[in-house]
Amino acid sequence: MGDVFTARVPAELTQAISLAETNADIYIAEYNVYMGHLLNNENQKLFPEDMVLLSHWNLRDEIKSNYANLENGLEKQDMIYTVMKHIINQTIPEKVINSGEYDWNPIENKVYQDGNEVELSAEPDTRYLQILNNFNANKATDEYYTDYNTFIKRAFSGAKEIPQEEIEKLFDEYLSSPVVKEVGKVISKRLGRDLKPYDIWYDGFKARSSISGETLNEMTREKYPDAKALEADLGNILKKLGWEKERAEFIASKVTVDPARGSGHAWGAEMKAENAHLRTRISSKGMDYKGYNIAIHEFGHNVEQTISLHDVDYYMINGVPNTAFTEALAFIFQKRDLQLLGFKNDNLDKEYLENLDLYWSVFEIMGVSMVDMKVWKWLYENPEATASQLKEATVSIAKEVWNKYYAEVYGTTDEAILAIYSHMIASPLYLTNYPFGHLIDFQIEQYLVGKDFSDEVDRIWSIGRLTPEIWMQEAVKESISIKPMIEAAEEALKHIN
Ligand SMILES: [Zn+2]
Repeated sequence: MGDVFTARVPAELTQAISLAETNADIYIAEYNVYMGHLLNNENQKLFPEDMVLLSHWNLRDEIKSNYANLENGLEKQDMIYTVMKHIINQTIPEKVINSGEYDWNPIENKVYQDGNEVELSAEPDTRYLQILNNFNANKATDEYYTDYNTFIKRAFSGAKEIPQEEIEKLFDEYLSSPVVKEVGKVISKRLGRDLKPYDIWYDGFKARSSISGETLNEMTREKYPDAKALEADLGNILKKLGWEKERAEFIASKVTVDPARGSGHAWGAEMKAENAHLRTRISSKGMDYKGYNIAIHEFGHNVEQTISLHDVDYYMINGVPNTAFTEALAFIFQKRDLQLLGFKNDNLDKEYLENLDLYWSVFEIMGVSMVDMKVWKWLYENPEATASQLKEATVSIAKEVWNKYYAEVYGTTDEAILAIYSHMIASPLYLTNYPFGHLIDFQIEQYLVGKDFSDEVDRIWSIGRLTPEIWMQEAVKESISIKPMIEAAEEALKHIN
């Protein structure tokens, strides 16, 4: 009940926080790189004329998609990484951001207009000014909180209900586990070259599905021509997952399906008389496979929302400890989407590959999240810092994290790549949610193996909004742990090697 009573922060300070966040959002949303205007040292343009990529998401995804490009994929990947370094170090010419007015050779960092070299000034640490603005706006409210008197405490002990120190310890253990060197060797062997820093995004463990996309689209379109058809089938989906008829129908009756304008989302009810809403995109041709896959994810959220509202003993603790715990059930459902369409997954290799893929991507995002946390700690130790001092500190923290956990695997030191994430600018201290969510999800999945799926889901998600640690002990009989994921990676290595 204590959570209901929050601090009384003056409205103008709350507004200042939202203004700083909005400005940072806009800054990031307009941070595009005009790839068709990038030149290599031979004055060649490697990317399509009209390709415009948003930093960092699209840049990262372009690196990923070039693993399959044997012609000049490596050169493209190298060039994107060079661009990223200019963004992190703020040596990027300001006028090439979000503009195709100039041609830019990022290798030499020279800019051309109509073939003639021109002098342009670098971005003036605006990237770091955004973080600083977020910091100052949040810090201004510290004195209104008795216990959670820093933004770090509010983001961790408050919102995530887990102290920052515990998260850092958990991540440090994972990042220090020796298995990473073995996984790195496998990747290097598969690539046929030494690892490059951007191989933190290696995605070659993805197992190709044997069922064609068109076949899947046809199936889901026929099955779900509109939102009502999906709604009518929710009870069946639950029965296929093992729920008894009566229970399946009860849960299904508490979920309403609406067509979505965006991609999809799940909105839980706050009172038992109301329904949870599943929103998903359905075109006039019916629901395609991508929409179906998302709908099953959202349905997992709805099932969590329904169980944790109706079956938690006390209304005041309805729900789950934090977003990771609702995402866990959403992913558990989503992974079973093909099974629900009647396909069997008996390809063991696929599971090994998926576990290595997960292990490697969690290793990447944990490092990124480490940098985010350490930057905020540095800010609290240096509250008077300027944007340019913050830049120096961020780059050196990123290199420090790299040197500690990554250098040995990659064979290079002092790489700042972990500081490229846009979340650090626009969503302060959010990044932790991803690796933390993966750990929880994986631990629960491992626990569910060989158990009665529906009974366990009913039991686990009716625990309520305890702290993450107590919730996990009740749910899977052990503390939050990195072990299941490490062990799965070790097991996978034995079979893939
Ligand atoms: Zn979700």
